[in-house]
Amino acid sequence: MSVIEAQYYEKLDQNRVKCKLCPQNCQIRPGKEGLCRVRFNDGGTLYTNNYAEVASLAMDPVEKKPLYHFYPGRQILSAGTWGCNLSCGFCQNYSLARQKVPTREIVPETLVKIARQAEADNSIGIAFTYNEPSIWFEYIIDIAEKMKFYGLKTVLVTNGYIEKDPLARLLPFIDGVNIDVKAFTESFYHRNCKGRLKEVKENVEYMAGKIHIEITNLIIPGENDDPSETEAMAAWLASINPNIPLHLSRYHPAYKMQRDPTQVSTMLKAQKICRQHLNFVYLGNLPGINNNTPCLECGQVLITRDAYNVKITGLKDGKCSYCGAEIDYITVG
Ligand code: SF4
Repeated sequence: MSVIEAQYYEKLDQNRVKCKLCPQNCQIRPGKEGLCRVRFNDGGTLYTNNYAEVASLAMDPVEKKPLYHFYPGRQILSAGTWGCNLSCGFCQNYSLARQKVPTREIVPETLVKIARQAEADNSIGIAFTYNEPSIWFEYIIDIAEKMKFYGLKTVLVTNGYIEKDPLARLLPFIDGVNIDVKAFTESFYHRNCKGRLKEVKENVEYMAGKIHIEITNLIIPGENDDPSETEAMAAWLASINPNIPLHLSRYHPAYKMQRDPTQVSTMLKAQKICRQHLNFVYLGNLPGINNNTPCLECGQVLITRDAYNVKITGLKDGKCSYCGAEIDYITVG
C-alpha cells in the first residue's frame, strides 16, 4: 500500500519528472528521489512511498500543536510519517524529518475509525503533525474527506511550503492549521532551510480567513532574533488579522545547530515587540510563563493555561463571562 503514484507532477523528456506538490519543484531523473525523500521517479512515473505509512500516532492536547484558540482543553489524535520538504539545520524533529523510520500501515478507513473512537476520549479529530504533512498529501486528503463526512476536525501542523493547486484542493477539508514561519528574511530560509519565505507568506495570506490559523516562530539567537525582523513579521501578520495567535518558541540546540538556547530576556523582548501589533502573543518552550488568554474588551482572563492544564474560566456561549463581549477569536466546543 505504501507506494502509489503521486499526484501533482509533470512528465519531462528522458523519463524525467517535475514534482509540483511543493515549491521545491524537484526535477527528478529516473531512479532518483526528490528532496523530501518520499517521492521518487521510477521509469518516468512519480511515486510516493509513504502512503498510509504511519511512524507516530498519539493522543495530544490541542495546545501541544500548538493551537490555543481552537477547541481549548480538548484532545486530538496526532499522526505523522517521515520526510520533509525543507532541510532545516535546527530541526527539532529531525529523527522523523530527515530519515526513514519504522512505520506501520494504517489505511485511511482504519485511521478514521480510530479517530471516531477517540471522540470518547475528548478528541476533536486528527492532527497531521510530527513531520511535514504536505508531503503526505494523497493520504491526508483521503482521510480529511472522510473526517468531514463524520463532522470531525482535521488539523495540519505545517511549514506552509506547498504549491497553490494542491493547497486549494486540500483546504476545504481542513479546519485548523499551525504554520511555522521560521524567520522573516529570505536569506534565513535560503541559508538554513533550502526554501523560500515568499511562498510561505503567500500561503499564510491565502489560508487566513478561510480556516483557523495560528503561527509559530522559533527564535534562534544570532539567526532570526533581530528585533526589526521580529517586528516586521508581527506587522505583516497584523495586516492580515491582528487576532491571529502568534507562538514565539524558544530555541534549544538540535540536529546540526548547536548555538546556546535563546535567552529568556530575548523571548520577553520579542513578545513585547509583537504585542505592539498583535493581540495574542504566546511564549513556547518556557515553563512558568503566563500564557493565559484575556478578553480583548475588558482584559479579564478567558482561558488559563498551566502547561497543558487548560481551564476555560471566562468564556460562555461565545461571550466573555465578565463583560459580555462577543468572543469570535476563539473556537470552543
Ligand atoms: S514534494 Fe518532495 S519531491 Fe515534490 S517538489 Fe517537494 S521536495 Fe521535491
